[in-house]
Amino acid sequence: MKCPFCANQDTSVLESRVAEDGQSLRRRRECAKCQKRFTTFERIEGPTVFVVKRDGSRQPFDREKIVRGVIKSFDKRPVSIDQVTQLADEVEREVRRKEVSEVASKVIGKMVLKKLRNIDKVAWLRFASVYLELSDVAEFEKLIEKVTN
Ligand SMILES: [Zn+2]
Repeated sequence: MKCPFCANQDTSVLESRVAEDGQSLRRRRECAKCQKRFTTFERIEGPTVFVVKRDGSRQPFDREKIVRGVIKSFDKRPVSIDQVTQLADEVEREVRRKEVSEVASKVIGKMVLKKLRNIDKVAWLRFASVYLELSDVAEFEKLIEKVTN
């Protein structure tokens, strides 16, 4: 683990703790060279789950992709990065809980949408229009109706 201050490779662990989500390990480290302290998170990785896209292609599930997509939807909206990462964490947990090796991208999109709706309606609509590739205007209008009701 490289020191973020001086890039020295030699660091020691001062403390290890299981993070609140129970799925990652939080470590307090100290650099042997500059003596500065920093924190690292180690995530527990389960077996790879593949996401099946609309065109039938498969890609390994990538939590970061959800984070990036959701952040885009939140452009200029009041939201914290913690809320976004928490959302992605929850989606990942839900996907893993299914104990399947494949999941349709549409299913993941719906999970994200369900959570987004409770956080920010504008972000929810933006995500819906991108992720669900709504080509049908009527479908989109139905969504807008849901927001305004
Ligand atoms: Zn250092």
